[in-house]
Amino acid sequence: MVALNPVLAAILRNTLGRRRGVTGCLFTFHRAARPEDWASLPDRDFYVDIGFLDRLLAYLARHGWSVVTIEEAIRRSAAGAPSKFVNFSIDDCYRDTFELVVPLFRKHGVPVTLFVTTGIPDGTHVMWQAGLEQTLRERDTVVLDGEIVDVASSERKRAVYNAKARAWEGREPLEYAAFCAANAVDTGAVYANHAMTWEMIEAVVGDPHVEIGSHTVHHPHVASLSEEAAFYELERSRLRLEERLDIDVYHFAFPYGRAGDCGPRDFELAGKAGYRSASTTRKGLLTAGADPLHLPRNTLNGRHQQMHHAELHLTGISGLAARVLNRV
Ligand SMILES: [Zn+2]
Repeated sequence: MVALNPVLAAILRNTLGRRRGVTGCLFTFHRAARPEDWASLPDRDFYVDIGFLDRLLAYLARHGWSVVTIEEAIRRSAAGAPSKFVNFSIDDCYRDTFELVVPLFRKHGVPVTLFVTTGIPDGTHVMWQAGLEQTLRERDTVVLDGEIVDVASSERKRAVYNAKARAWEGREPLEYAAFCAANAVDTGAVYANHAMTWEMIEAVVGDPHVEIGSHTVHHPHVASLSEEAAFYELERSRLRLEERLDIDVYHFAFPYGRAGDCGPRDFELAGKAGYRSASTTRKGLLTAGADPLHLPRNTLNGRHQQMHHAELHLTGISGLAARVLNRV
């Protein structure tokens, strides 16, 4: 993230906002934690502190931003009339989406979009991040590569989490299975603690504060798949949500969502798979007439929990900086 003086951010917000007319900012995040839990989480960058989110929603209301669904965001973008809006989408759908996030948006009377990886409620998605993290949180030592390793302090838990997440990249399910076997991890308990179940999703379907979209079946890097496999991930997850929940699903978000994770072929496939929109995680603002099949989204995470970080996204500065620095 580029550090920027908050005063400069405010000036640029005003100038960019006036020039563009339509200014939509789509935010995304994965997990939320209570303020008292956030600091001790081994993978805390993956979470947004729910207290920060509460303050951000109040800030947006005070500054005249309306919070809308993706459906409404693409309608406003297509209409082109001057407008200032944000959308919040939460990807994957962990249990905290149900317990913390949806109640917060209800409290503020504004909508939130849930992009569901259908393998999570179906129990077929390997929840390695949650399982590794929970095991590290609960124990003072773990077995790694045949050695007993000290993870008593929160610093050690964080260091081990980050080292393993990096080392496992590309073969997480296999590595996690070996870790679970060596440490007698109860994967059923991990699932129960961290998955959003179909019953939870059913409990929020029909709520005017909740929009349901799809985030594939297995959470792959879609660009790395064959065309047939990519189309399956896109279409199958939509059909699964529609048949299980008896709703229409029009919106999709690409897992990971950066330039190497989804490209022009995949944007086209999203249209063929029946979606009106597909979201990436390329930073930037949604402007008039934008192609709804590769929407920009700005990721909120544990490292950026001050209001001026959100302002960098609302002004479009983070998107400009990402393009200048070629971090897309
Ligand atoms: Zn995801």
